[in-house]
Amino acid sequence: MRHIAIIGSGPAGYYSAEAAQKKFGENVAVDIIDRLPVPFGLIRTGVAPDHQSIKAVSRRYEKTNSGDNVRFVGNVTVGVDVSVAELQEFYDAVVLATGAPDDRLLDIPGSDLAGVIGSAAFVGWYNGHPDFRDLDPPLDARSVAIIGNGNVALDVARILAKTEGEFAGSDIVGHALDGLKQSAVERITFLGRRGPHQIAMTPKELGELGHLERARPVVEAEDFPDIGDDAMLEPGMRKSVNHLRSFQIAAADAEHKPIEIAFDFFAMPIEIQGEGRVEKLIIERTELDKDLRSIGTGELYELDCQLVISCIGYRTPPIEGVPYEHGRGRFANSDGRILPGLYCVGWARRGPSGTIGTNKPDGAAVVEMIDEDISESSRKPGRAGLDSLLASRGVETVTFRDWKKIEEAEVARAREGSPREKFTDIADMIAARD
Ligand code: NAP
Repeated sequence: MRHIAIIGSGPAGYYSAEAAQKKFGENVAVDIIDRLPVPFGLIRTGVAPDHQSIKAVSRRYEKTNSGDNVRFVGNVTVGVDVSVAELQEFYDAVVLATGAPDDRLLDIPGSDLAGVIGSAAFVGWYNGHPDFRDLDPPLDARSVAIIGNGNVALDVARILAKTEGEFAGSDIVGHALDGLKQSAVERITFLGRRGPHQIAMTPKELGELGHLERARPVVEAEDFPDIGDDAMLEPGMRKSVNHLRSFQIAAADAEHKPIEIAFDFFAMPIEIQGEGRVEKLIIERTELDKDLRSIGTGELYELDCQLVISCIGYRTPPIEGVPYEHGRGRFANSDGRILPGLYCVGWARRGPSGTIGTNKPDGAAVVEMIDEDISESSRKPGRAGLDSLLASRGVETVTFRDWKKIEEAEVARAREGSPREKFTDIADMIAARD
Protein backbone atom coordinates (compact mmCIF):
# COMPACT_ATOMS: atom_id res chain seq x y z
CA MET A 1 0.00 0.00 0.00
CA ARG A 2 1.23 3.46 -0.88
CA HIS A 3 -0.05 6.42 1.11
CA ILE A 4 -0.29 9.67 -0.83
CA ALA A 5 -1.34 13.11 0.42
CA ILE A 6 -2.30 15.65 -2.21
CA ILE A 7 -2.54 19.25 -1.03
CA GLY A 8 -5.16 21.10 -3.03
CA SER A 9 -8.41 19.83 -4.54
CA GLY A 10 -8.31 21.67 -7.86
CA PRO A 11 -7.75 20.09 -11.27
CA ALA A 12 -4.06 19.31 -10.64
CA GLY A 13 -4.92 17.57 -7.37
CA TYR A 14 -7.80 15.52 -8.76
CA TYR A 15 -5.96 14.48 -11.95
CA SER A 16 -3.05 13.28 -9.78
CA ALA A 17 -5.46 11.27 -7.61
CA GLU A 18 -7.08 9.80 -10.73
CA ALA A 19 -3.68 8.81 -12.12
CA ALA A 20 -2.71 7.20 -8.78
CA GLN A 21 -5.93 5.20 -8.78
CA LYS A 22 -5.25 4.04 -12.31
CA LYS A 23 -1.63 3.13 -11.62
CA PHE A 24 -1.89 1.50 -8.20
CA GLY A 25 -5.51 0.29 -8.12
CA GLU A 26 -6.49 -0.91 -4.64
CA ASN A 27 -2.88 -0.59 -3.44
CA VAL A 28 -3.06 3.13 -2.84
CA ALA A 29 -4.76 5.39 -0.32
CA VAL A 30 -4.98 9.01 -1.41
CA ASP A 31 -6.02 11.91 0.81
CA ILE A 32 -6.84 15.17 -0.97
CA ILE A 33 -6.47 17.93 1.60
CA ASP A 34 -7.93 21.42 1.08
CA ARG A 35 -8.02 24.49 3.26
CA LEU A 36 -11.63 25.18 2.20
CA PRO A 37 -14.50 22.91 3.24
CA VAL A 38 -15.48 22.63 -0.44
CA PRO A 39 -13.51 20.95 -3.24
CA PHE A 40 -12.42 21.73 -6.81
CA GLY A 41 -10.29 24.87 -6.32
CA LEU A 42 -9.95 26.73 -9.62
CA ILE A 43 -13.05 25.06 -11.05
CA ARG A 44 -15.21 26.53 -8.31
CA THR A 45 -13.53 29.88 -7.71
CA GLY A 46 -11.38 30.59 -10.78
CA VAL A 47 -13.27 29.51 -13.90
CA ALA A 48 -15.74 32.25 -14.85
CA PRO A 49 -19.32 31.73 -13.61
CA ASP A 50 -20.70 32.11 -17.15
CA HIS A 51 -18.48 29.25 -18.36
CA GLN A 52 -20.55 26.42 -16.88
CA SER A 53 -19.50 23.91 -19.52
CA ILE A 54 -15.87 24.21 -18.32
CA LYS A 55 -16.98 23.84 -14.71
CA ALA A 56 -18.74 20.59 -15.62
CA VAL A 57 -15.33 18.83 -15.49
CA SER A 58 -15.88 18.57 -11.72
CA ARG A 59 -18.18 15.59 -12.44
CA ARG A 60 -15.09 13.68 -13.49
CA TYR A 61 -13.41 14.57 -10.17
CA GLU A 62 -16.50 13.36 -8.30
CA LYS A 63 -16.03 10.00 -9.95
CA THR A 64 -12.43 9.90 -8.72
CA ASN A 65 -13.76 10.55 -5.25
CA SER A 66 -16.38 7.81 -5.39
CA GLY A 67 -14.02 4.94 -4.47
CA ASP A 68 -12.78 4.24 -0.94
CA ASN A 69 -9.16 4.77 -1.85
CA VAL A 70 -9.53 8.52 -2.53
CA ARG A 71 -10.69 10.72 0.32
CA PHE A 72 -11.40 14.48 0.47
CA VAL A 73 -10.25 16.11 3.72
CA GLY A 74 -11.57 19.67 3.71
CA ASN A 75 -11.10 22.58 6.11
CA VAL A 76 -7.45 21.68 6.84
CA THR A 77 -4.77 24.29 6.19
CA VAL A 78 -1.33 22.83 5.55
CA GLY A 79 1.19 25.07 7.28
CA VAL A 80 -1.31 25.90 10.05
CA ASP A 81 -3.21 22.75 11.08
CA VAL A 82 -0.49 20.36 9.95
CA SER A 83 2.98 20.95 8.51
CA VAL A 84 4.47 19.48 5.35
CA ALA A 85 7.10 17.76 7.53
CA GLU A 86 4.35 16.07 9.55
CA LEU A 87 2.58 14.96 6.37
CA GLN A 88 5.86 13.46 5.16
CA GLU A 89 5.99 11.37 8.34
CA PHE A 90 2.51 9.98 7.67
CA TYR A 91 2.52 9.58 3.88
CA ASP A 92 4.96 7.99 1.40
CA ALA A 93 4.41 10.84 -1.03
CA VAL A 94 3.22 14.40 -0.52
CA VAL A 95 2.07 16.18 -3.68
CA LEU A 96 1.63 19.96 -3.60
CA ALA A 97 -1.23 20.89 -5.93
CA THR A 98 -1.80 24.28 -4.36
CA GLY A 99 -2.21 26.21 -7.63
CA ALA A 100 -1.23 29.85 -7.88
CA PRO A 101 -3.81 31.81 -5.91
CA ASP A 102 -1.78 35.00 -5.33
CA ASP A 103 -1.47 37.87 -7.80
CA ARG A 104 1.84 38.58 -9.46
CA LEU A 105 2.71 42.00 -8.06
CA LEU A 106 2.08 45.10 -10.13
CA ASP A 107 5.23 46.80 -9.00
CA ILE A 108 4.65 50.44 -9.97
CA PRO A 109 4.15 53.58 -7.85
CA GLY A 110 0.53 54.01 -6.76
CA SER A 111 -0.37 50.32 -6.97
CA ASP A 112 -1.42 50.47 -3.30
CA LEU A 113 -4.10 53.13 -3.97
CA ALA A 114 -7.74 52.29 -3.28
CA GLY A 115 -9.37 51.09 -6.49
CA VAL A 116 -6.34 49.07 -7.63
CA ILE A 117 -7.22 45.38 -7.45
CA GLY A 118 -5.50 42.17 -8.52
CA SER A 119 -7.39 39.65 -10.63
CA ALA A 120 -7.18 36.98 -7.90
CA ALA A 121 -9.23 39.23 -5.65
CA PHE A 122 -11.70 40.35 -8.34
CA VAL A 123 -12.22 36.85 -9.75
CA GLY A 124 -12.50 35.48 -6.19
CA TRP A 125 -15.12 38.13 -5.41
CA TYR A 126 -17.45 37.34 -8.31
CA ASN A 127 -16.92 33.61 -7.79
CA GLY A 128 -17.68 33.69 -4.05
CA HIS A 129 -14.25 32.76 -2.64
CA PRO A 130 -14.46 33.27 1.14
CA ASP A 131 -11.21 35.31 1.12
CA PHE A 132 -12.67 37.96 -1.19
CA ARG A 133 -16.39 38.11 -0.37
CA ASP A 134 -15.90 41.50 1.30
CA LEU A 135 -13.83 43.05 -1.51
CA ASP A 136 -16.52 45.57 -2.48
CA PRO A 137 -14.85 46.76 -5.71
CA PRO A 138 -15.62 50.39 -6.62
CA LEU A 139 -18.20 49.77 -9.34
CA ASP A 140 -19.11 53.45 -9.41
CA ALA A 141 -16.10 53.66 -11.78
CA ARG A 142 -17.04 54.85 -15.27
CA SER A 143 -13.64 53.99 -16.73
CA VAL A 144 -11.90 50.71 -15.85
CA ALA A 145 -8.34 49.84 -16.88
CA ILE A 146 -7.48 46.14 -17.16
CA ILE A 147 -3.75 45.47 -17.28
CA GLY A 148 -2.73 42.37 -19.25
CA ASN A 149 -3.77 40.67 -22.49
CA GLY A 150 -4.51 37.16 -21.23
CA ASN A 151 -7.67 35.08 -20.72
CA VAL A 152 -8.13 36.30 -17.17
CA ALA A 153 -8.23 39.89 -18.49
CA LEU A 154 -10.94 38.72 -20.91
CA ASP A 155 -12.96 37.06 -18.13
CA VAL A 156 -12.81 40.22 -16.03
CA ALA A 157 -13.86 42.50 -18.90
CA ARG A 158 -16.73 40.21 -19.91
CA ILE A 159 -18.07 39.98 -16.36
CA LEU A 160 -17.93 43.77 -16.01
CA ALA A 161 -19.69 44.28 -19.34
CA LYS A 162 -22.52 41.75 -19.18
CA THR A 163 -26.14 42.63 -18.50
CA GLU A 164 -28.07 40.88 -15.74
CA GLY A 165 -29.86 38.83 -18.41
CA GLU A 166 -26.55 37.61 -19.80
CA PHE A 167 -25.78 35.99 -16.44
CA ALA A 168 -28.78 33.65 -16.75
CA GLY A 169 -27.61 30.08 -16.22
CA SER A 170 -24.39 31.20 -14.55
CA ASP A 171 -23.48 30.69 -10.89
CA ILE A 172 -22.20 34.20 -10.30
CA VAL A 173 -22.74 34.85 -6.58
CA GLY A 174 -25.59 37.11 -5.49
CA HIS A 175 -23.38 39.83 -3.97
CA ALA A 176 -21.48 40.20 -7.27
CA LEU A 177 -24.61 40.23 -9.41
CA ASP A 178 -26.15 42.90 -7.16
CA GLY A 179 -22.97 45.00 -7.34
CA LEU A 180 -22.65 44.65 -11.11
CA LYS A 181 -26.29 45.62 -11.63
CA GLN A 182 -25.46 49.01 -10.11
CA SER A 183 -22.20 49.41 -12.06
CA ALA A 184 -21.54 52.72 -13.80
CA VAL A 185 -18.96 51.33 -16.23
CA GLU A 186 -18.91 52.97 -19.67
CA ARG A 187 -15.42 52.20 -20.86
CA ILE A 188 -13.08 49.26 -20.26
CA THR A 189 -9.52 49.53 -21.57
CA PHE A 190 -7.19 46.54 -21.97
CA LEU A 191 -3.59 47.66 -21.62
CA GLY A 192 -1.23 45.28 -23.40
CA ARG A 193 2.46 45.98 -23.16
CA ARG A 194 3.01 44.24 -26.52
CA GLY A 195 1.00 44.03 -29.76
CA PRO A 196 -1.87 42.09 -31.35
CA HIS A 197 0.47 39.27 -32.40
CA GLN A 198 1.65 38.78 -28.80
CA ILE A 199 -1.68 38.46 -26.98
CA ALA A 200 -2.26 35.53 -24.63
CA MET A 201 -6.02 35.45 -25.33
CA THR A 202 -7.35 32.23 -26.88
CA PRO A 203 -9.76 32.36 -29.84
CA LYS A 204 -12.97 31.00 -28.29
CA GLU A 205 -12.71 33.33 -25.30
CA LEU A 206 -11.77 36.35 -27.42
CA GLY A 207 -14.62 35.67 -29.85
CA GLU A 208 -17.14 36.02 -27.00
CA LEU A 209 -16.32 39.73 -26.75
CA GLY A 210 -17.87 40.26 -30.17
CA HIS A 211 -21.27 38.96 -29.00
CA LEU A 212 -22.00 40.97 -25.87
CA GLU A 213 -25.38 42.66 -25.61
CA ARG A 214 -24.32 46.11 -24.54
CA ALA A 215 -20.54 46.19 -25.13
CA ARG A 216 -18.43 46.49 -28.26
CA PRO A 217 -14.72 45.73 -28.64
CA VAL A 218 -12.70 48.48 -30.27
CA VAL A 219 -9.28 48.10 -31.88
CA GLU A 220 -7.09 50.61 -33.73
CA ALA A 221 -6.02 49.66 -37.25
CA GLU A 222 -2.58 51.23 -36.86
CA ASP A 223 -1.67 48.79 -34.05
CA PHE A 224 -1.78 45.83 -36.43
CA PRO A 225 1.09 44.49 -38.50
CA ASP A 226 0.55 43.88 -42.18
CA ILE A 227 -2.22 41.27 -42.67
CA GLY A 228 0.23 39.08 -44.61
CA ASP A 229 2.26 38.67 -41.41
CA ASP A 230 -0.62 36.74 -39.82
CA ALA A 231 0.33 33.74 -41.97
CA MET A 232 3.42 33.21 -39.79
CA LEU A 233 1.36 32.78 -36.64
CA GLU A 234 0.52 29.37 -35.21
CA PRO A 235 -3.13 28.48 -35.98
CA GLY A 236 -4.61 29.33 -32.54
CA MET A 237 -2.95 32.72 -32.46
CA ARG A 238 -3.98 33.37 -36.05
CA LYS A 239 -7.61 32.74 -35.09
CA SER A 240 -7.31 35.13 -32.16
CA VAL A 241 -5.82 37.83 -34.37
CA ASN A 242 -8.64 37.20 -36.88
CA HIS A 243 -11.11 37.98 -34.10
CA LEU A 244 -9.29 41.22 -33.30
CA ARG A 245 -9.36 42.22 -36.96
CA SER A 246 -13.07 41.30 -37.19
CA PHE A 247 -13.85 43.65 -34.29
CA GLN A 248 -12.65 46.48 -36.48
CA ILE A 249 -14.90 45.42 -39.36
CA ALA A 250 -17.91 45.03 -37.04
CA ALA A 251 -17.34 48.36 -35.27
CA ALA A 252 -19.85 50.41 -37.32
CA ASP A 253 -22.67 47.89 -36.67
CA ALA A 254 -21.96 47.87 -32.93
CA GLU A 255 -21.92 51.63 -32.34
CA HIS A 256 -25.29 51.56 -30.56
CA LYS A 257 -23.80 49.45 -27.75
CA PRO A 258 -23.03 51.82 -24.87
CA ILE A 259 -19.98 50.13 -23.29
CA GLU A 260 -16.70 50.38 -25.14
CA ILE A 261 -14.03 47.72 -24.58
CA ALA A 262 -10.90 49.29 -26.04
CA PHE A 263 -7.67 47.44 -26.81
CA ASP A 264 -4.71 49.72 -26.15
CA PHE A 265 -1.65 47.85 -27.44
CA PHE A 266 2.01 48.80 -26.89
CA ALA A 267 0.94 50.36 -23.60
CA MET A 268 2.88 49.91 -20.34
CA PRO A 269 1.44 51.45 -17.15
CA ILE A 270 4.27 53.05 -15.19
CA GLU A 271 2.43 54.92 -12.43
CA ILE A 272 -1.02 55.12 -10.86
CA GLN A 273 -2.08 58.52 -9.52
CA GLY A 274 -4.99 59.79 -7.43
CA GLU A 275 -6.00 61.53 -4.21
CA GLY A 276 -6.96 58.71 -1.85
CA ARG A 277 -8.16 56.54 -4.75
CA VAL A 278 -7.09 55.89 -8.30
CA GLU A 279 -7.89 58.70 -10.74
CA LYS A 280 -5.52 58.06 -13.62
CA LEU A 281 -2.82 55.84 -15.05
CA ILE A 282 0.41 57.16 -16.52
CA ILE A 283 1.28 54.95 -19.47
CA GLU A 284 4.42 54.66 -21.54
CA ARG A 285 4.12 53.78 -25.22
CA THR A 286 6.24 50.72 -26.00
CA GLU A 287 7.72 49.03 -29.02
CA LEU A 288 9.12 45.53 -29.51
CA ASP A 289 12.81 44.69 -29.57
CA LYS A 290 14.19 41.94 -31.82
CA ASP A 291 13.27 39.27 -29.24
CA LEU A 292 9.68 40.59 -29.17
CA ARG A 293 10.10 42.04 -25.68
CA SER A 294 8.42 45.36 -24.92
CA ILE A 295 10.66 48.37 -24.38
CA GLY A 296 9.61 51.88 -23.43
CA THR A 297 9.80 54.62 -26.07
CA GLY A 298 9.75 57.49 -23.55
CA GLU A 299 6.40 58.73 -24.92
CA LEU A 300 3.95 59.13 -22.01
CA TYR A 301 0.20 59.65 -21.91
CA GLU A 302 -2.60 59.43 -19.34
CA LEU A 303 -5.75 57.34 -18.99
CA ASP A 304 -8.49 58.56 -16.65
CA CYS A 305 -9.86 55.59 -14.71
CA GLN A 306 -11.41 54.95 -11.33
CA LEU A 307 -10.76 51.21 -11.14
CA VAL A 308 -7.62 49.31 -12.17
CA ILE A 309 -7.64 45.51 -12.29
CA SER A 310 -4.26 43.97 -12.90
CA CYS A 311 -4.48 40.61 -14.70
CA ILE A 312 -0.77 39.93 -15.13
CA GLY A 313 -0.53 36.38 -13.83
CA TYR A 314 -0.32 34.57 -10.51
CA ARG A 315 2.12 33.14 -7.98
CA THR A 316 2.13 30.07 -5.76
CA PRO A 317 2.55 31.10 -2.12
CA PRO A 318 5.61 29.51 -0.47
CA ILE A 319 5.10 26.87 2.23
CA GLU A 320 7.51 26.73 5.16
CA GLY A 321 10.26 24.20 4.63
CA VAL A 322 9.60 23.67 0.90
CA PRO A 323 12.29 24.89 -1.56
CA TYR A 324 10.92 27.83 -3.55
CA GLU A 325 11.88 29.79 -6.67
CA HIS A 326 11.09 33.41 -5.81
CA GLY A 327 11.72 34.72 -9.33
CA ARG A 328 9.16 32.41 -10.89
CA GLY A 329 6.73 32.26 -7.99
CA ARG A 330 6.58 28.46 -7.76
CA PHE A 331 8.18 25.57 -5.89
CA ALA A 332 11.74 24.69 -6.90
CA ASN A 333 11.40 21.38 -8.69
CA SER A 334 12.73 19.19 -11.43
CA ASP A 335 9.79 18.08 -13.62
CA GLY A 336 7.60 17.94 -10.53
CA ARG A 337 10.07 16.32 -8.12
CA ILE A 338 11.06 18.62 -5.25
CA LEU A 339 12.84 15.72 -3.55
CA PRO A 340 12.00 12.02 -3.42
CA GLY A 341 8.72 11.82 -1.51
CA LEU A 342 7.79 15.48 -2.09
CA TYR A 343 6.34 16.61 -5.43
CA CYS A 344 4.40 19.41 -7.05
CA VAL A 345 1.94 19.47 -9.95
CA GLY A 346 -0.03 21.96 -12.00
CA TRP A 347 0.55 25.68 -11.52
CA ALA A 348 2.55 24.99 -8.33
CA ARG A 349 5.02 23.08 -10.54
CA ARG A 350 5.15 24.99 -13.82
CA GLY A 351 3.68 28.41 -13.02
CA PRO A 352 0.28 29.75 -14.08
CA SER A 353 -0.01 28.63 -17.69
CA GLY A 354 -1.95 26.13 -19.76
CA THR A 355 -5.51 24.89 -19.74
CA ILE A 356 -7.27 22.72 -17.17
CA GLY A 357 -6.52 19.70 -19.35
CA THR A 358 -2.76 20.41 -19.18
CA ASN A 359 -2.93 19.15 -15.60
CA LYS A 360 -3.90 15.66 -16.71
CA PRO A 361 -0.49 14.61 -18.12
CA ASP A 362 1.07 16.47 -15.19
CA GLY A 363 -0.78 14.24 -12.74
CA ALA A 364 0.17 11.08 -14.67
CA ALA A 365 3.85 12.14 -14.71
CA VAL A 366 4.00 12.75 -10.97
CA VAL A 367 2.48 9.34 -10.29
CA GLU A 368 5.17 7.70 -12.48
CA MET A 369 7.79 9.48 -10.35
CA ILE A 370 6.15 8.29 -7.15
CA ASP A 371 6.26 4.76 -8.56
CA GLU A 372 10.00 5.15 -9.27
CA ASP A 373 10.84 6.70 -5.89
CA ILE A 374 8.62 4.86 -3.41
CA SER A 375 8.61 1.13 -2.78
CA GLU A 376 5.36 -0.68 -2.23
CA SER A 377 5.94 -1.93 1.30
CA SER A 378 5.32 1.22 3.24
CA ARG A 379 5.41 1.30 7.00
CA LYS A 380 3.91 4.74 7.23
CA PRO A 381 0.54 5.17 8.98
CA GLY A 382 -1.14 7.16 6.15
CA ARG A 383 -4.54 8.63 6.85
CA ALA A 384 -4.78 7.14 10.36
CA GLY A 385 -1.77 9.25 11.35
CA LEU A 386 -3.32 12.42 9.96
CA ASP A 387 -6.69 11.76 11.54
CA SER A 388 -5.31 11.29 15.04
CA LEU A 389 -3.07 14.38 14.76
CA LEU A 390 -5.95 16.58 13.54
CA ALA A 391 -8.25 15.20 16.24
CA SER A 392 -5.64 15.98 18.91
CA ARG A 393 -5.50 19.55 17.60
CA GLY A 394 -9.27 19.93 17.52
CA VAL A 395 -9.39 20.48 13.75
CA GLU A 396 -12.88 19.96 12.36
CA THR A 397 -12.55 18.24 8.98
CA VAL A 398 -15.09 18.07 6.15
CA THR A 399 -15.58 14.85 4.15
CA PHE A 400 -16.74 14.42 0.57
CA ARG A 401 -20.12 13.23 1.87
CA ASP A 402 -20.34 16.47 3.87
CA TRP A 403 -19.51 18.41 0.69
CA LYS A 404 -22.38 16.73 -1.13
CA LYS A 405 -24.72 18.02 1.61
CA ILE A 406 -23.24 21.51 1.27
CA GLU A 407 -23.71 21.30 -2.47
CA GLU A 408 -27.32 20.19 -2.03
CA ALA A 409 -27.96 23.25 0.15
CA GLU A 410 -26.31 25.52 -2.43
CA VAL A 411 -28.51 24.08 -5.19
CA ALA A 412 -31.63 24.45 -3.03
CA ARG A 413 -30.99 28.17 -2.41
CA ALA A 414 -30.10 29.04 -6.03
CA ARG A 415 -31.92 31.96 -7.66
CA GLU A 416 -34.14 30.96 -10.57
CA GLY A 417 -32.15 29.80 -13.60
CA SER A 418 -28.89 29.46 -11.68
CA PRO A 419 -27.32 26.07 -10.87
CA ARG A 420 -26.38 27.10 -7.32
CA GLU A 421 -25.94 29.96 -4.90
CA LYS A 422 -22.56 29.36 -3.30
CA PHE A 423 -21.94 29.84 0.39
CA THR A 424 -19.18 32.41 0.68
CA ASP A 425 -18.57 32.08 4.40
CA ILE A 426 -16.69 29.09 5.80
CA ALA A 427 -18.92 28.87 8.88
CA ASP A 428 -22.03 28.76 6.64
CA MET A 429 -20.48 25.99 4.54
CA ILE A 430 -19.76 23.90 7.63
CA ALA A 431 -23.20 24.58 9.10
CA ALA A 432 -24.85 23.42 5.84
CA ARG A 433 -23.54 19.87 6.21
CA ASP A 434 -25.15 19.38 9.62
P1 NAP B 1 -1.36 35.00 -18.98
O1 NAP B 1 -2.04 34.21 -20.02
O2 NAP B 1 0.06 34.68 -18.66
O3 NAP B 1 -1.45 36.54 -19.40
C1 NAP B 1 -0.83 37.53 -18.63
C2 NAP B 1 -0.82 38.84 -19.40
O4 NAP B 1 -0.26 39.83 -18.53
C3 NAP B 1 0.05 38.82 -20.66
O5 NAP B 1 -0.61 39.58 -21.64
C4 NAP B 1 1.33 39.51 -20.18
O6 NAP B 1 2.03 40.17 -21.21
C5 NAP B 1 0.79 40.51 -19.21
N1 NAP B 1 1.77 40.96 -18.22
C6 NAP B 1 2.55 40.20 -17.42
N2 NAP B 1 3.30 40.97 -16.61
C7 NAP B 1 2.99 42.25 -16.93
C8 NAP B 1 3.41 43.51 -16.44
N3 NAP B 1 4.33 43.60 -15.46
N4 NAP B 1 2.88 44.63 -16.97
C9 NAP B 1 1.98 44.55 -17.97
N5 NAP B 1 1.51 43.39 -18.47
C10 NAP B 1 2.01 42.25 -17.95
O7 NAP B 1 -2.11 34.90 -17.58
P2 NAP B 1 -3.65 34.89 -17.16
O8 NAP B 1 -4.49 35.69 -18.04
O9 NAP B 1 -3.61 35.16 -15.71
O10 NAP B 1 -4.06 33.36 -17.38
C11 NAP B 1 -3.39 32.31 -16.67
C12 NAP B 1 -3.66 30.97 -17.36
O11 NAP B 1 -5.03 30.59 -17.20
C13 NAP B 1 -3.43 31.02 -18.85
O12 NAP B 1 -2.88 29.82 -19.28
C14 NAP B 1 -4.82 31.21 -19.41
O13 NAP B 1 -4.98 30.78 -20.74
C15 NAP B 1 -5.62 30.36 -18.44
N6 NAP B 1 -7.04 30.77 -18.44
C16 NAP B 1 -7.86 30.16 -19.32
C17 NAP B 1 -9.18 30.55 -19.39
C18 NAP B 1 -10.09 29.88 -20.40
O14 NAP B 1 -9.64 29.04 -21.14
N7 NAP B 1 -11.34 30.22 -20.50
C19 NAP B 1 -9.68 31.56 -18.57
C20 NAP B 1 -8.79 32.18 -17.67
C21 NAP B 1 -7.47 31.77 -17.61
P3 NAP B 1 3.36 39.57 -21.88
O15 NAP B 1 2.87 38.55 -22.85
O16 NAP B 1 3.99 40.73 -22.50
O17 NAP B 1 4.16 38.94 -20.76
